[in-house]
Amino acid sequence: MSSLSPSESVLVKELFVSSKTPVQERVNMLAVFDFDHTIVDGNSDIVARNLITPSILIPNSKNYPHNWTQYMQQVFNVIKSIKIPAQKIIDAVSLMSPTEGMLKLIRALYKNDVDIIVASDSNSLFIQNWLKYNKLSGAVSCIYTNPAKIEDDLIIIEPYTLQRACTMCNMNMCKGTIVKEHLSRKNKKYENIFYFGDGKNDLCPVLKLSQMDVAFPRLGYILDNLLKSRTTLAKVKPWRTGDDIYEYLVSLELISANNV
Ligand SMILES: [Mg+2]
Ligand SMILES: [Zn+2]
Repeated sequence: MSSLSPSESVLVKELFVSSKTPVQERVNMLAVFDFDHTIVDGNSDIVARNLITPSILIPNSKNYPHNWTQYMQQVFNVIKSIKIPAQKIIDAVSLMSPTEGMLKLIRALYKNDVDIIVASDSNSLFIQNWLKYNKLSGAVSCIYTNPAKIEDDLIIIEPYTLQRACTMCNMNMCKGTIVKEHLSRKNKKYENIFYFGDGKNDLCPVLKLSQMDVAFPRLGYILDNLLKSRTTLAKVKPWRTGDDIYEYLVSLELISANNV
């Protein structure tokens, strides 16, 4: 058996390495989605509350300062008291329209192997059922939200957590901590994080992003305005539709257009 010259040996080694390496190296990316006014074009809690008639029965949110989950529990109690089944609330939320272009964007991210999570101050029943109705359950790997269940035809909602460490966020949820904990739980280094949101509680996680990440505030909404006076290391790319985001990610070759 003839032995290889040193240069041939290097070539063989390189061929071996390249044959084991995928043609297109997969980059680990994480997409974090808010739910209300981001994935869906509206607020799921308001859709639920609007089922209450006459409107005089709608509880006053001013009586529940800083405690939205307790307020929503009161909303669900009233809905039950007027004999509207819990399933009717779930159905009303499941029928909410996605924000324009969002279904295509989420499908494209999923097909490009981007890890997709949802962080929302809505609740688990609303989000899980909406995703199921829109055939996206399999695309989302984790949902971080207030847990909810149906008991005796009443929706019971509990706060996601009780925190005082972050003063920027509500007591029941700090989305910055959610993203941080997701990263440590996954024990995975993401090359890029994309954060999609519209609201005040999306500011904390956006301020914690790195220069490799992109914050996508919905144009003209609260987060977009807040980011005009706050600085984040991440690139900031306001959007009107999911198609804007899709085109942007394709143009940067972060996702492939063929993969939709
Ligand atoms: Mg929102
Ligand atoms: Zn926070």
